[in-house]
Parts: sequence; structure tokens; C-alpha cells
Amino acid sequence: MKSRSGRTATAASAADRDVQPFMTTLNEFSRCVAQYDPHALPVSAAQAIVRQWATPVTAVERVPLRDALGRVLAADIVSPIDVPSHDNSAMDGYAFNGAALATSESTVNLTIAGKALAGHPFPGHVDTTQCVRVMTGACMPADCDTVVPQELVQRSADSTSIRFAANALRAGANRRLAGEDLARGHAALRAGRIMRASDLGLLASLGIGEVNVWRRLRVAFFSTGDELRSLGEPLDPGSVYDSNRYTLFAMLRRLNVDTLDLGVVRDEPAALEAALRSAAASADVVLTSGGVSVGEADFTKQLLQTFGDVAFWSLAMRPGRPLAFGRVWSGAHPGLGLPALFFGLPGNPVAVMVTFYQIVREALLLMSGATPQPLPVLRAASRQAIRKRAGRTEYQRGVAGQDARGQWHVTPTGSQSSGVLSSMSEANCFIVLGHDEADIGEGEPVDIMLFDGLI
Ligand code: AMP
Ligand code: MG
Repeated sequence: MKSRSGRTATAASAADRDVQPFMTTLNEFSRCVAQYDPHALPVSAAQAIVRQWATPVTAVERVPLRDALGRVLAADIVSPIDVPSHDNSAMDGYAFNGAALATSESTVNLTIAGKALAGHPFPGHVDTTQCVRVMTGACMPADCDTVVPQELVQRSADSTSIRFAANALRAGANRRLAGEDLARGHAALRAGRIMRASDLGLLASLGIGEVNVWRRLRVAFFSTGDELRSLGEPLDPGSVYDSNRYTLFAMLRRLNVDTLDLGVVRDEPAALEAALRSAAASADVVLTSGGVSVGEADFTKQLLQTFGDVAFWSLAMRPGRPLAFGRVWSGAHPGLGLPALFFGLPGNPVAVMVTFYQIVREALLLMSGATPQPLPVLRAASRQAIRKRAGRTEYQRGVAGQDARGQWHVTPTGSQSSGVLSSMSEANCFIVLGHDEADIGEGEPVDIMLFDGLI
């Protein structure tokens, strides 16, 4: 078993980084993708390219069950036992042989032969004229296959027998079968599963106290921009606080990856190159924000073309049009040193979040060894007309709700500017307007992606 214990932020070993001899450059590969247009790549084509290059980590760690929450299972978990291990009662009542239902007239009369509690089985045998008092979870006594709930019976005055209507239940009722929850030898959970609360309980029910998970993905990120100030610094005229590092940190935290915050880097090619190379030396993935547009101080793309490998740098997407994707290396030339996947996100705070969820998120999950599920999409009636140009995918911010009949509706938040981060805090969903969609009329259905569970 490989482990990344002992690894520090600055000392990544090649063995731990899944370095592969790439047969082709990302740039060459991307050119073969249908609809390839580096200046305005459709979102679906960009997602397909990114997916192709998201190589999963290979190192495995063994962790105690409690530490497995949110981690990705590295191997199938095969159930070593039946759960439950015995047939047992689902109710407080009386267990009996269901054949008694067929042989009785309208009323079934049974004498009480004994008692079984959870953890205290009834040791004897019964015939079809007898029953056993059972509590929920008690082992089904031998010869019994049916439980009549205590609410349905009348006990005799001396409490030695019960009677109940024969048509009150069927043979086999209120009995849980051995292996009904999990059968021995069957896969209880599959590799690639992101462990949830129920999974921890499920593994505990199998008696499993430790599991193999993939090592955490390591993601380095920094912001670029001469105007950016870190928290605690004074805001001089024209400067803004760096908010992107906080949203990125939070979104990465939710994906359970290791984060490496490299701070703010100035709009200077040498500083940017040094930051990218040191990030590649210590992380699997490098995320930056800002500097990927076509402005005079936007150096990231140029740099990438000289010492990296760029697949695309502009998407048919709003917000998020300038988005660079490629690879960077820790060495002085492409292919030298350790590689990292690179996402150069736009600078605008809303665009950072939209591109993270729509482009980066799936790649990070795949690289973490997970089997990502598509994000759920609902149809909702738009309460406003929405202007939309065909030929790009738009992710507007909306407030969704349900009417009295349970139908979903959505209203776009006021400002849709990609710089207005408060629109994300106000919203509870993205309104997803597909590549080919044009203007939406009031009352027309649109796709929405709820933030709940996502942010
Ligand atoms: P850029 O893509 O570098 O041209 O940045 C686009 C806009 O986003 C500019 O108004 C920047 O000031 C702003 N911006 C860039 N990075 C950040 C950041 N880390 N936090 C807040 N705003 C930013
Ligand atoms: Mg900038």
C-alpha cells in the first residue's frame, strides 16, 4: 500500500504524482475534439476535453471509519456477513407459523409458548397452535415465519393465549429476512464512492472499522492582480480585497481536497512563472484567478504558451468566457519536472464560481478517484423574460421556489454582472440556458441547478 504520509507541501515525489508519459500534448489532443474552437469552445466540448485529462490519483491510504467521511473508496466493499444475520421481527407482537392463517376460521387462536427479546432468542419449538411473544429485532423463533402486531390481538384474561382476525395479515408478514439489508458476498459499496453518513453506518453494520481510500488530491491556488489586497491590508484607491481565494478555498474544502493557498501574485511575467512552477512542484492541480483575458496585464495565457501546454483559453460561456485549461510543469520547459493540470479561471468573482462548478469540479472529483454523478437539473417556469443569445451557455443566478401545487418557478436575481458576488449569495440556483437556446419568454420552462448540497 502506498501512502502519502510524510509528504509536505514542497516535497512531492514523482511516484506519488502519477506522472505519466503523455503521448501527445493537450493542445494536439484538443484540436481533434469535435467543435474545437480555442476562441469559443462550447461548454460540453470543454468538459469532454477536461474529463479526458483528469487522471485519478493512485496512492491509497487506510483510514479508520470515522475519518472516511467525504473520502473516496479505493476498492469495492464486499459484505463479509448477512445483515441482518438472522430472520427477525419487525414489530412488537407475536410470532407464529403462517400456516395457522389458512387452517383457522375467521379468528386465529394461539397459546403463548414463551418470549423472545432482541438479543434473547426463544430456545424452543412451536406447533401451529402456538405463538411466541416477540419484540422488534428479536430472532424469529424456529418454525415461525409471521408476526402479528400486538395492536391487532386480544389477550385472554389469564394472558396465556391470543386471538386475532385471520384476514388481518398474510403469512410472512412483519418479518425481516436474514441478508435483506446486505447479503454476504455482495458488493455493499463500490470503489469511487464518496463516503456519506449512511455509508459509515452501513460499514459499521458489517463490522468493518477501517477502509482503503484514495489519497486526497492536492490543489494549489493563487490570485493574480496588482489591484488585489489581502485581508488586513489597507485599501488604497483603485484596489479591491482578494475575495476569490476565499470562495476557491471554500469550494475546494467542500470537495475534500488538500488545499495550498499561494496568496496573491503580481501581474509580472517572472513572478507568475515562478508561482506556477512552484505550484506545479507541490500540487496535482493549479488554479489561478484573473489575468486570462486579453488585457495588457493578462500574462497567464502567454506564459502558458511558452512553458506549458494550453488546450483552450476561451469558452462559449457566460460568465466565464476567458478560461484557460492546460498543463504546467515545475521545470523550465514543458515536460520538465513535475506536471500539474492547470485551470486559469477568470478574475470576476461570479465567473470564478461558475467556471469552478461547471468545468473544474468534475475534473477534481475524477482525479480524486470518485465516480462523479451529474448535478441534478430541475425544470422551472421563469417568472421573467430572459434575454439570451444562442451560441453560448449561460449560467444566470436565480431564486427558485415551489408554488402550492409543487411546481418549480425561478426568478433571476437582479444583477447578472459577473462582478456582483452578492448575486451568488442572494441566489439559490443557477438558471442554465443551453448553448442553442435564445430569448426565454415569461412563464417558459428553463433548467435550474439548485445550490443546496453544492455550495
Ligand atoms: P482580470 O480577469 O484579471 O482582468 O480581472 C477581472 C475583474 O475581476 C477585475 O475587476 C478584477 O479586479 C477582478 N478580480 C480579479 N481577481 C480578483 C480577486 N481575487 N478578488 C476579487 N476580484 C478580483
Ligand atoms: Mg487582472
